[in-house]
Amino acid sequence: MSDCVFCRIVQKEVPAEVLFENDEVIVILDINPIHYGHALVIPKKHCRDFLELPPCSYQAILEAARVVCQALVRGLGLEGYNLFSNNGRSAGQSVFHFHLHVTPRYPNDDIRFVLELKKYSDGQLKHYAELIKKQFDSI
Ligand code: 5GP
Ligand code: ZN
Repeated sequence: MSDCVFCRIVQKEVPAEVLFENDEVIVILDINPIHYGHALVIPKKHCRDFLELPPCSYQAILEAARVVCQALVRGLGLEGYNLFSNNGRSAGQSVFHFHLHVTPRYPNDDIRFVLELKKYSDGQLKHYAELIKKQFDSI
């Protein structure tokens, strides 16, 4: 995908600070970090989002995430970190090549989602569970 910035980073056509790389995965520093050291775990093969990821790549991605988390914890003396992935525009995805964010966290760093949490009304919890569970047989 020549118009995909992460594919271009994988191909070394766009420069990036590479933390770790193997045949399947590249881990780079995010250019606009939440905290310094914010890393992105990127499968080398282009896929748009989590649902497009081939299951055979799960292990390589999670293993790379584990290594980079450990390196961040040791290298930056972290006690906390977040692992997350935005999938779809409404979820905040801006680069449409799947990636996992690994972000350092610090006590009282004031980084938070501002959330207004909902409550389920009577029957709604079951209703939503059924809507989801009835899909499982066909996935
Ligand atoms: P998303 O918004 O899709 O979850 O995350 C995309 C991330 O990629 C953003 O945090 C953004 O800062 C980062 N990013 C976008 N373009 C580049 C780039 O050219 N180089 C690097 N290192 N990071 C990038
Ligand atoms: Zn790509």
